[in-house]
Amino acid sequence: MILNGIGVSSGIAIGNTFLKEEPRSNSGKTIITDIDKELTRFEEAKCKAVRDLEEVCQEARLGNKEEAAMIFEAHRMIIEDLEYIESITMLITKEHVDAEYAVSKTSEVFEALFQNMDNEYMKGRAADIKDVSNRLISALRGELSVALSLLSTPVIIIAKDLLPSDTIHMDKRYVLGIVTEEGGNTSHATILARSMGIPAVVGVPNIFSLFQQNQIVALDGKEGKVSINPSIDELKLWQQKKVQYDEYIKKLSALKGTFNITRDGVHIKVNANIASPNDMDKVIENEAEGVGLFRSEFLYMHSKELPSEDVQFEAYKKVLESIKGKVIIRTLDAGGDKEIPCLDVSKDENPFLGYRAIRICLGRRDLFYTQLRALLRASLYGELGIMFPMISSLEEIRQVKELLKEVEQDLKNEGIPFSKDIEIGMMIETPAAVMLSDLFAQEVQFFSIGTNDLTQYIMAADRMNPKVAYLYDTHNLAVLRAIKMVTENAHRAGIWVGICGEAAADTSLIPFFLNIGIDELSVSANTILQVREKIQQTDTREYSEEIIG
Ligand code: PEP
Ligand code: MG
Repeated sequence: MILNGIGVSSGIAIGNTFLKEEPRSNSGKTIITDIDKELTRFEEAKCKAVRDLEEVCQEARLGNKEEAAMIFEAHRMIIEDLEYIESITMLITKEHVDAEYAVSKTSEVFEALFQNMDNEYMKGRAADIKDVSNRLISALRGELSVALSLLSTPVIIIAKDLLPSDTIHMDKRYVLGIVTEEGGNTSHATILARSMGIPAVVGVPNIFSLFQQNQIVALDGKEGKVSINPSIDELKLWQQKKVQYDEYIKKLSALKGTFNITRDGVHIKVNANIASPNDMDKVIENEAEGVGLFRSEFLYMHSKELPSEDVQFEAYKKVLESIKGKVIIRTLDAGGDKEIPCLDVSKDENPFLGYRAIRICLGRRDLFYTQLRALLRASLYGELGIMFPMISSLEEIRQVKELLKEVEQDLKNEGIPFSKDIEIGMMIETPAAVMLSDLFAQEVQFFSIGTNDLTQYIMAADRMNPKVAYLYDTHNLAVLRAIKMVTENAHRAGIWVGICGEAAADTSLIPFFLNIGIDELSVSANTILQVREKIQQTDTREYSEEIIG
């Protein structure tokens, strides 16, 4: 039987299933008579859960898994969240129910709250609430949490929903693949699986009625296909697919040590997009020439408070120190689909056309000032470029530059050193920035075209809305012409231009980008070698101008 889900982490996996037991549903409510005793039980369980979380957090940090550490940190915050705790203790005191029931009831309410949010990221937080609540219930029952780290043979994990703590405890040697019913592209477990290179398919309905323990399963983490109990002939086909995929990856790694140069000798820089300093190992391993886009909002996403100047400084410094080439750090791009709880910005009716990115930064100068200070201080540790997202008016970029000057002056006054050679650039993501690109080119030293947003704004088609996906297409002539116009205006003014949206890794567009003279492509670390392969196959002169009229 073939099931269809959403492929979220590429690769082919074939192996026996390991059904991760559903967290036991609560055995029902027990009416208690000794309220104080129950509150003490809860308090003790809470302390144990907090201690456990501190331990796993520490463990993750020691293992250099900062992303995971931040997730556990966030879980600790949930356990200590006043509203969450109050809901549990109120149920115990007012309804005289046992602590396990109170936790599970509270969890249901909070999970539903998050699940009903429009934003995919916030929806994903329901899994965190569930994870935390299960941990509390286990602590109340005195259970040891069954860790997937105890696996000793390679399996494909089948789970209703994989929790971040499950994923981080997995021993990669024993996890061939993952299939889940819930979860999406932006859930933490998915992010972790992808970063560990484990093929994964999510969104497969009715997992527990379809799968059994220890059954043969094959999955394609790109196509989102899962085959249960494949026949001998089908199994052979899956094995061939796996061999082909492994060979393709091996073939790509043979490109290491070669250059991003076309058949007719044109060099194009291939940089990496990152979201965290922890991504740098993969960036180096795949030979990015530099970092073309560090989405700094990641630093703001998992914490309850705005990251301090020092926290940001350390993160930027770490990235700058780890690579020889240029590192372009984009200032906070909050809003749109990226909600940042610690920012406390109310949700707009139309978030992509509302208060986001540079608009928030210029409105919240306190936090923008802190970020710019951290960036300037870190500039001593490598070759830094700073770029600004969602610019749509000349006034905005001028205000940004003015604030930057103010920060420079303050640092000088305080005797704090910073580099004099920081490149200042802007993202081209709005039609206004395209139309004024000749004027913007006088203001900055480089452009980076954010095709993800540029496509949605040019086509007036929300990048999150599947109903208008037929219009949301970077291949559309209107978008291609905009990219060409920006490139020409940049070059006329003598500045360089790159692409950092997902289109940069679209091998069908690479000949076009090369032909119009794009100077840099910035892509996720996993796709760098695929992009290199395409560049090496391309002759920039062969591209037909007719495509864009
Ligand atoms: C883009 O819009 O193309 C881009 C790179 O920014 P983000 O995807 O973070 O909005
Ligand atoms: Mg964008």
